[in-house]
Amino acid sequence: MPDEMQRALIRSRGDTGGCRPLEACMSEPCNQVVGILGTGDFSRSLARRLLASGCHVVVGSRTPKRFVTLFPEEAEVTSQLEAASQADLVFVAIFPEHHSTLLELKPALAGKTLVDVSNGLHVKRGGPSHAERLADMFPESHVVKGFNTISAWVLQTGPRDGSRQVFLCSDSSNAKSSVMVLCRRMGFCPVDMGLLSSSVEVENLPLYLFPSWGTPILITLILFFFFYLYNFVHDVLHPFVKEGKNVFYKMPIETINVTLPSVALVMLSLVYMPGLCAAVLQLRWGTKYNRFPDWLDKWLIKRKQFGLCSFLCAAMHAIYSLCLPMRQSARYRLLNAAFKQVQEGVENSWSDKGVWRMELYLSVGIMALGMLSLLAITSLPSVADSINWREFSFIQSTLGHCALTMATIHTLLFGWDRAFDPARYHFFLPPTFVMVLILPITVLLGRLTLLLPCMAHRLRQIRRGRERSRHIRFTLPSDGYYNGLDDVSNV
Ligand code: NAP
Repeated sequence: MPDEMQRALIRSRGDTGGCRPLEACMSEPCNQVVGILGTGDFSRSLARRLLASGCHVVVGSRTPKRFVTLFPEEAEVTSQLEAASQADLVFVAIFPEHHSTLLELKPALAGKTLVDVSNGLHVKRGGPSHAERLADMFPESHVVKGFNTISAWVLQTGPRDGSRQVFLCSDSSNAKSSVMVLCRRMGFCPVDMGLLSSSVEVENLPLYLFPSWGTPILITLILFFFFYLYNFVHDVLHPFVKEGKNVFYKMPIETINVTLPSVALVMLSLVYMPGLCAAVLQLRWGTKYNRFPDWLDKWLIKRKQFGLCSFLCAAMHAIYSLCLPMRQSARYRLLNAAFKQVQEGVENSWSDKGVWRMELYLSVGIMALGMLSLLAITSLPSVADSINWREFSFIQSTLGHCALTMATIHTLLFGWDRAFDPARYHFFLPPTFVMVLILPITVLLGRLTLLLPCMAHRLRQIRRGRERSRHIRFTLPSDGYYNGLDDVSNV
């Protein structure tokens, strides 16, 4: 009996004992014979996972003898025809351009479920997909598209180390259900994507490169280059042209460190701007049932990405700021200032105003970064899933506006009274913080206006379904309790 317990559930051919890294997980045998056509990377990982799930696995190869040693002992490696005949459900783990070489297996595969795991090389805008082509080739089999978003690596390491979702679609609901059951046995989460016509989209899924990040990243980059250039002209080029002062050393750190918070604040304002536009439109229309313009819809959907870009810039600004005193240039400047003071006979350079400004400036900046971190963390799907809608809305909306307020005050404190000093307007250009403050102040004033009782009441009514033109009458609860519904459309 102890010998039996020590025996590994899955052994490689030639194994004398010792457990395999793949966890020998489960379960009672599933009595299902699962076939895999192809002996490549995907096939090997899939075979291991199926064996660990208690299935009987038959692998079909053009040259079974050549690849038999690559599979665990429990898997039967045989000819393609033999595997197709034995199995009830067959995974087609070969590249789609070779699907046609399987045509001679047609009679053996008739009435069986074929799972097409193939991926394309390019994003396709229209059909037919590889799975649809396979279904045309094997009209008597039931083709299911799926597992193409799961890599061979994830199959090997197990679903804990990667995405658990497996997108499945098929025209046969029975075939799809049987693959779903198998999918759950393997520890994955099947996601029903409907009919086989969705397979184009399922095949495109692993080919997308951050689909919702394009515009936010582009805007971040444009803002970054704009503000960098602006700061360069304002703080580096101006002293060089006017006074012949060479301060080009500022370009790698100081100029970037003034650029990053500018981008962060504008991006954070862009998170809350579309909500304001939506509220203004709803007030103007007197209904929430009109569709927003396309650009506003897209903007509203991308608020999370805008927020995360803002957080990235703010975090980098914090790191850059911490590094400022480490620079050689900062040490020289400090020493020179001290030396000058001694020469001028100044004993105490303490300035209450300067000290207070800096203390408040830093404190408010840290608070803004702390709140932004919270917003970023709660936008992670796993964290967002663990809180309810009201909590999510409180953090993203209320706390988000607090973060915007703090960041705006941080910038105001940085500017202090320098906005009114004509000497700061180099080349007639205002200091960067003056320009940066326009958008957040607009958003905050707009939000404050919407909080005015007359506005807030009207907006709340509209968001609860009142339409000005149809005169639908209803009364709101007087104690301010709205079952959380008031937040649902709190865009
Ligand atoms: P691979 O390592 O190149 O294996 C492909 C297998 O196809 C070969 O080992 C070969 O096995 C078999 N095959 C059958 N007929 C063939 C023919 N006429 N010409 C060449 N090979 C033929 O590829 P893979 O990485 O396992 O990928 C297999 C499929 O899974 C692809 O459609 C791919 O898009 C999909 N997929 C792969 C991954 C991954 O992470 N690798 C992830 C998702 C989806 P025999 O010589 O034994 O017949």
